[in-house]
Amino acid sequence: MNKVIPLSVPNLSLDILKNIKETIETGWVSTGGRFIKEFEEKTAKYVGVEKAVSCQSGTAGLHLALRVLGIGSGDEVVVPTVTFIAAVNPVRYVGAEPVFMDCDDTLNMDMDKLEEFLENECYYIDGKLMNKKTNKVIKAVIVVHVFGNPANIEKLMEIKEKYNLRVIEDATEAIGSYYLEGKYAERYCGTIGDIGVYSFNANKIITTGGGGMVVSNDKELLDKVAFLSVQAKTDPLYFIHDEVGYNYRMTNIQAAFGVDQIDRLEGFIETKIRNYKLYKEAIENIEGLTLLSFRSDTRANHWFYSVIVDKEKYGMDRDELLRKLNDNHIQTRPLWGLIHKQKPYMENQAYKIEKAYYYEKNLINVPCSSNLADEDVEIVVERLRIYKNRVVR
Ligand SMILES: *Cc1c(COP(=O)(O)O)cnc(C)c1O
Repeated sequence: MNKVIPLSVPNLSLDILKNIKETIETGWVSTGGRFIKEFEEKTAKYVGVEKAVSCQSGTAGLHLALRVLGIGSGDEVVVPTVTFIAAVNPVRYVGAEPVFMDCDDTLNMDMDKLEEFLENECYYIDGKLMNKKTNKVIKAVIVVHVFGNPANIEKLMEIKEKYNLRVIEDATEAIGSYYLEGKYAERYCGTIGDIGVYSFNANKIITTGGGGMVVSNDKELLDKVAFLSVQAKTDPLYFIHDEVGYNYRMTNIQAAFGVDQIDRLEGFIETKIRNYKLYKEAIENIEGLTLLSFRSDTRANHWFYSVIVDKEKYGMDRDELLRKLNDNHIQTRPLWGLIHKQKPYMENQAYKIEKAYYYEKNLINVPCSSNLADEDVEIVVERLRIYKNRVVR
């Protein structure tokens, strides 16, 4: 068995060639051109907002989001410790500091703990929410919809109102996920907080090679995002700049991928859900392994699948299972290293981190590409069955 089953690879169609050909023939290969506008319009329509602004990457989008919300030096932003580090680094780019929050059993930020922290560990001066420990102003929360599973946004929006915070949705993994119930039924991840960001990196559910998109219901914020993304040109003819901007705009070549990929997103999600169900049925019968659920009151995009390994019951620990699967050409990976323990952030405050350690230790992600065939799922599952209790302890 030598075929490699990758963890998550792009699902690209040769139809894109026609678009790329057009960019070459017209010379529109940089940060102008019709595909950019078209991709922004399609994305906005898909997630149900009026306007979307494209950029170079999800990371760039998050950086711009923090800038336009006026978050800067001396401020603090509450972030999850369970995330890819790109959700946190932009906080430092603007000179602010992160405060780390634990996850709950959905892997998303624990909103009860967040509320407890704000209630007990903070105080007000002149209407500003201050952190007792650091005496810095808490301005915002970055919430990540981890692996495409929607976070508890309803609770977060209540907290936002109560404490007058800004909410940035890192929906980089969650394009296509939306809520089915409650106050935000039918609303897409990324479109509920003050500002939301999607990513089109190659491992995400749709890709432009690299790229991002910022959405908001506040048109002024989006205009500012667009302005800063092209070097903040106040007067383009005379090159007048009243602010420090960036070269963060998406290129027409990236968007040429995007206009095709976004049309296929619903199909990808269907496949992801189908494969998830295949895994679920099979893994339910393997003692010691649990496939984590996506929230049933949402339509999650099912981007990444997570399996929890109970060492005692399964007979092998997570790390050994990881190694064995990878040795057998089945690409799997552990959860990200928790961000509050990473070198640049070790000095930052981390509030009662508990569950995150459990998931960091026991979780693996199994292959989940949108072009994964039924037979591939069967091969992965067969391996998981074979390893069960095969090891002498
Ligand atoms: C991928 C990702 C990002 C960054 O997106 P890029 O487009 O790769 O810059 C940010 N946050 C999370 C949680 C991600 O998974």
